[in-house]
Amino acid sequence: MIISLFDPWRSSLCTCPKKYSLNPYTGCAHACVYCYITSYIPRAFEARLKRNLLKQVKRELLKLDPRFPVTIANSSDPYQPLERDYKQTRSCLKLLKERGFRVQVVTKGDLVVRDASLLAEMHAAVAVTVTTLHEGTAAQLEPGAPSPERRLRALQELAERGIPVACRIDPLIPGVNDSAGELVRELAHIGVCHVVSSTFKPRPDSWRRFAEAFPEAAEKLRELYFRRGSRVQNSYYLPREVRLELLRRVRDACRRYGISFATCREGLKLNTAPSCDGTHLLRLHAGDVEHAQGS
Ligand code: SF4
Repeated sequence: MIISLFDPWRSSLCTCPKKYSLNPYTGCAHACVYCYITSYIPRAFEARLKRNLLKQVKRELLKLDPRFPVTIANSSDPYQPLERDYKQTRSCLKLLKERGFRVQVVTKGDLVVRDASLLAEMHAAVAVTVTTLHEGTAAQLEPGAPSPERRLRALQELAERGIPVACRIDPLIPGVNDSAGELVRELAHIGVCHVVSSTFKPRPDSWRRFAEAFPEAAEKLRELYFRRGSRVQNSYYLPREVRLELLRRVRDACRRYGISFATCREGLKLNTAPSCDGTHLLRLHAGDVEHAQGS
């Protein structure tokens, strides 16, 4: 199956509403230091096409319930470099539109702006991840992804086209990108209406990459993660009070600027939004669902 129920390792800390997950590509060329897909996708940073993707998506969509949204994508970026030539994400969006599905795009790729007209005609919302305004830090954290400036411009262009936009300030890493106040101010100025944020939850392989890229920060964090923190399934968590302090600061900044806020798999009661993942930004017209089901 190419489309599955969204289920991040059956985590009891996940508060996402029911939704489907679709990854138009296998792997991701953005190669983020903190990425968790390396723990379950072989050659994870070598992005590749999926065989018979569109045929299969078309077939699977006939069996799925269009009342539930589709998030695109969780284990690869839908607007990574391959998309420029192959337009697999764009083709999937067209199929989703035909069937009346609501779609939540999650990306770091400013190529998403190419599809603004299509997205504006759908029940779609776009979340762009921006972890820092500092270009150098972003280049170290997310070596294959567009710069923060390009991502912010993409958010602004989408917002100007009337597409609901959210930002994922995710992950927050103490000593690396833990002061999001200025970023939140920028987001408010651009028209972002929702922020999702969470702390870095390394697995053994992402910790190794992080420690290589940020040796000094890793040295300072080692004790927090592995002695004072906790382990949830295969991920290491910072101590609760550290996470609370980091995320409270982001929430308070969001409050100041009238942006709704939620955390992701933290188990903290900080959310001010009706949904954690921003699905509340999607517009649902019952008539569209009935039409899609009957056609
Ligand atoms: S963009 Fe997302 S899927 Fe791609 S490498 Fe970065 S964190 Fe992983």
